[in-house]
Amino acid sequence: MSGNDNPCMSCGACCACFRVSFYWAEGTDGGGVVPIELTEPLSAFLRCMIGTNQRSPRCNALSGEVGKTVACSIYAARPSTCREFDRSGEDGRPNAACDRARAHYGLAPLSPDGAQMD
Ligand code: SF4
Ligand code: SF4
Repeated sequence: MSGNDNPCMSCGACCACFRVSFYWAEGTDGGGVVPIELTEPLSAFLRCMIGTNQRSPRCNALSGEVGKTVACSIYAARPSTCREFDRSGEDGRPNAACDRARAHYGLAPLSPDGAQMD
């Protein structure tokens, strides 16, 4: 999920579609900021957000209803995977994974300028 006042605030699909994994040291136990109580180990070097490593993923840090109103409860402390996941059209670049996540929830892809299409 990207930030600020944008279509992500009424989407959240990517937070409930993929496994969200990252280098373990991004957790608070490794000197990082991601609260480890919201993470689980994946391997010796990787952690993931709890709730995302399952058949129907949904990150435990996501509040609200996908496609309506959502928020990330650890927005300032979210992992790099989330910070680097741009919404489609952000900075003029498409993001097929954003489009795919939205389609999974019956949401139209964002227009090339990142706005919501009706
Ligand atoms: S940490 Fe926040 S931005 Fe990342 S998947 Fe979870 S709810 Fe989404
Ligand atoms: S799927 Fe795309 S529009 Fe929806 S929250 Fe994620 S980045 Fe934002």
